[in-house]
Amino acid sequence: MRTTEVWDSPPIAINLKEVFLGFPGDPRWSSASRALKHKFTQDNNEVDPAPGSEFFNETKTLQKVVYSKLMEHAFSCSLKDLLVTRINMIFKPYDIDYHNVVKLDACLGTLKTMRCADSIRVWKTWINGWATSYRYHSTNLYPCLLGCHGEPDDFSHYVRCSHLYALCRFLISNTSADPLTRYGLANPCTDNYLIVCCVFGGYHAAHRLAVGGRIGPISKELLTGAQTRRLWSVFAEAFHAEARELGVQPRKFSLPQFISFLADNTTPIELPNHQGWQTPTLVGGFVRSEFPGNMLRGGSGEVNSQEICFGIYFVAHSCDLQRRVL
Ligand SMILES: [Zn+2]
Repeated sequence: MRTTEVWDSPPIAINLKEVFLGFPGDPRWSSASRALKHKFTQDNNEVDPAPGSEFFNETKTLQKVVYSKLMEHAFSCSLKDLLVTRINMIFKPYDIDYHNVVKLDACLGTLKTMRCADSIRVWKTWINGWATSYRYHSTNLYPCLLGCHGEPDDFSHYVRCSHLYALCRFLISNTSADPLTRYGLANPCTDNYLIVCCVFGGYHAAHRLAVGGRIGPISKELLTGAQTRRLWSVFAEAFHAEARELGVQPRKFSLPQFISFLADNTTPIELPNHQGWQTPTLVGGFVRSEFPGNMLRGGSGEVNSQEICFGIYFVAHSCDLQRRVL
C-alpha cells in the first residue's frame, strides 16, 4: 500500500519493487528495463521470473547481463552519435543535412582507408579536437590565430575563418569554398583528408608558437601585424612539412606573395557548378548574421548571394589585413 499521503517518500518495499522492474516509469531507464525483462523471460523458458525465484539464484552471470543491457540501452553512444553532436555544435546555428549532404557512413568508410595517424587527425578535426584556447578554457584566451578581428581561437570559428580559408586556397588552389567539403564532411575523398591533416598540423604549429610566448603577449581581441605575419609563416611551414610526408604538393609560400594574393582576390571564389547543387551553402568567409539558420539545407537559390557576400567580405578583409600587416 502506498503511504505517500502520510510520508514524504514511498516505503522501501515499493522502491525495491521499482528497482526490480527497472524503473519502468522513468524514460531514462524504461528501454533498458524492457530489454532486461524480455531477456529474463526468454532465458526462463518464456515465463516472467518472479522476484527471488530460483531463476535468479541459478543465473550465474546475472550482474553481467544486467550491466550489458543497461549500458546498451541507457548509455548507448556510438561514434556516429558523437560525430553528429560535435558537428552540430561546430556549425551551430546552422542545420546540417545528414541525408543528402553529409553522409557519415561514407565519411567514416573513407577514413578507414587511411593510415591510423592520419585518420586520427581528421577525426579530431570533426569532433572539435583542435587544441584551441577556448576548448581548453585556457586562462589566456586568444583571438583567431590567423588574424580575424574579435573572433575567438575556437574551431567553430576556424571552419568559417576567411584567413584560414585564404591560406588554404593559396597553398592548394582547388580548395573548396564550402567548409563541409573543405573539412571532408561532404564529398569525402582521401586526397581532401590529407589536406585536412596538413591544416591540422599548420594550426597546431601556430598554436604552439602562441602558447610558447615567442611572439610576445597576445591580446584577446586582435593580433598585431608582426604576430599575424609570423603565425601565417609558421602555419605554412608546418603545412608544407606535413604535405611532404603525405605526398601533397602545395604551392610554395612566401609572405609577399600571400599578401599580394589577398589583395588580388577581388572576385568571389567560384563555387561548384550550380546545376544539381546539393552541397551546403555555408562558405568560407561569410558574415554569420547575414544568413538564416536553414541555409545549410542546400538549394541553389541562395548560392549567388552568398558568393557575393563572400567576395565582399574577402576583399574587405584583404584590405584590412594589408593595412595591418604591411
Ligand atoms: Zn579567423
